[in-house]
Amino acid sequence: MRPKLRIQCTDKLSLSLSLDLDFGPRTLANLLKTGVSRHRITHILFSHYHADHFSDFITYFFDAMIFTKYQGGKRPPLTVIGPRGTKRLFRALFATLPGFTHAPFAVQFKEVADRAFAIGNTTVIPRTVTHTQNLHCLGYRIEYGGKALAYSGDSQYCDSLVGLCRDVDLAVLDCSFTANRPSPVHLHAGQCGQVAREAGVGQLVLSHLYPITERYNVREQAGEAFGGKIVVGRDLMAIKL
Ligand SMILES: [Zn+2]
Ligand SMILES: [Zn+2]
Repeated sequence: MRPKLRIQCTDKLSLSLSLDLDFGPRTLANLLKTGVSRHRITHILFSHYHADHFSDFITYFFDAMIFTKYQGGKRPPLTVIGPRGTKRLFRALFATLPGFTHAPFAVQFKEVADRAFAIGNTTVIPRTVTHTQNLHCLGYRIEYGGKALAYSGDSQYCDSLVGLCRDVDLAVLDCSFTANRPSPVHLHAGQCGQVAREAGVGQLVLSHLYPITERYNVREQAGEAFGGKIVVGRDLMAIKL
């Protein structure tokens, strides 16, 4: 249904960082299939807290606790980053779920808005995008080693999203709907192409695909506006920049 992104980079200090963007259903199972250690994830960046971006965090965290408590495993500290409401949500969640406040590794929560910050040698630029009313939703731009990628989170067409994607090598955009069957709170395939063209992106990945997108050719619809490479995202897809 919707691939989630995992980014791995090793900066010049040999500090190994592994970033994950959102944690929706199937993310944990898919991480296991990749063969890359899930216990090396150091930062999780949430766009917003609709359950399709969040639900597998609970099983992920529980698994990390079992690994470190009972299997003698070690993992680096975990930093959870997200929009307004992140601290409130995790405070309530951790206070409710048994054992979550006693994890044997350090966990911290950070709320971010429209200000760039660094994780090692990686620059992360969060930007507020327009999704549903009264919900703070972030898109993220990740810059590392002269390359840049953008992830829309869930978003309508908005100037802020075009700005976030400006000249990136790769943009992963919310393509929930088709141009002929649009919705007010998500991009459709034609708008994904429009954002990619206006921002001048190198490569476009259509993601967050709702069932309606299987009945029409979303690549073709996006391609009416954007002449660059367009990929229809799927689980376990890996793209090297
Ligand atoms: Zn959403
Ligand atoms: Zn969503």
